[in-house]
Amino acid sequence: MSLSDILISQITSQGPMRLDSYMTTCLLHPEHGYYTTRTPFGAAGDFITAPEISQMFGELVGLSLAQAWLDQGAPKPFTLAELGPGRGTLMSDALRACSKVDGFIDAVEITMLEASPALRATQAKTLTDFDPQWIDTIEDLPKQPTYFIANEFFDALPIRQFIRDGANWRERQIGIQDGVLAFGLGPAQSQPALEHRIEDTKDGDLIEDCAAAAPILSTLCERINSHGGAGLVFDYGDWRTLGDTLQAIQGHATADPLAAPGHSDLTAHVDFEALLRATVPCTPSRITPQGVFLERLGITPRAQALAQTLSGEALETHVAAHRRLTHPQEMGNLFKVFGIVPEGKAMLPGLEV
Ligand code: SAH
Repeated sequence: MSLSDILISQITSQGPMRLDSYMTTCLLHPEHGYYTTRTPFGAAGDFITAPEISQMFGELVGLSLAQAWLDQGAPKPFTLAELGPGRGTLMSDALRACSKVDGFIDAVEITMLEASPALRATQAKTLTDFDPQWIDTIEDLPKQPTYFIANEFFDALPIRQFIRDGANWRERQIGIQDGVLAFGLGPAQSQPALEHRIEDTKDGDLIEDCAAAAPILSTLCERINSHGGAGLVFDYGDWRTLGDTLQAIQGHATADPLAAPGHSDLTAHVDFEALLRATVPCTPSRITPQGVFLERLGITPRAQALAQTLSGEALETHVAAHRRLTHPQEMGNLFKVFGIVPEGKAMLPGLEV
């Protein structure tokens, strides 16, 4: 039975499905989920992420966190955590760069929040030398200084979509039309959690809500504020999302999110306002374009140094990767980053409060 058949039979017996349940099922179904059944990153996969484009990304991210660790007195032991680490490439590049920072490798304990058993296995292979631990929920993070990275993690969390109807909202749901999955609308209802969106929307506007994001960040920030640490969050999105940003990607092209459940990656823009609100009591940085952040950290001299050792096709790929990560018309502006430090502590290098 395909995931599409499973969903159709479930909707037939139980009625229309919320979009967040649909996304969770498509991405993480134990047998057919997108992340559970494959390693989707890289040229042969469906999409490519910054750490898969160049080692420079993970190196600079690692060194930025290492500087925060030094600024806070190099606590030992400490947790280096990653949310949704994919193939483990970012973590591996970060650790290689940080091995040059005195005492870092002796003090580090790696913890990963990863829902996919297939990706956990890939990460275990990439990081064999570091004995990483995996956790199922963020509450399971060890209670000690915590430095964390999240790259394209929050955009993979399930969202709900609501369409404004007077002072109420109608939820976008998945039902069945002519035997196939189709979007429909639930009844108009009040949504107390969306009260703040009445002021900036009008009838017919669609907004998105990702209820899973804030509790994860908020738990991390409480941990960081009481034990020390810092965090870096990279993603694409907006300050208050407006409009339908649900996107399905298959084979590097956009697809219909309902056409082949479990076969395409589903993401939505992150709402940076909601994320920043969840950073209390820590201090967040300004939301900064990824390209600006990487340039401030010295990606260009690093790229030039690496270029010395390359020639021919490898050199061309390397030059293209540098451009892809930083250029405003590529990922440089679309992707944003913000940092998090405990109240009163120095902000991470490359970012400003
Ligand atoms: N950070 C990686 C991968 C980004 S893709 C990179 O930059 O290459 C999203 C990652 O988050 C995948 O590893 C996926 O399995 C994981 N993920 C998605 N939803 C999750 C959830 N609810 N809990 C934990 N991990 C999740």
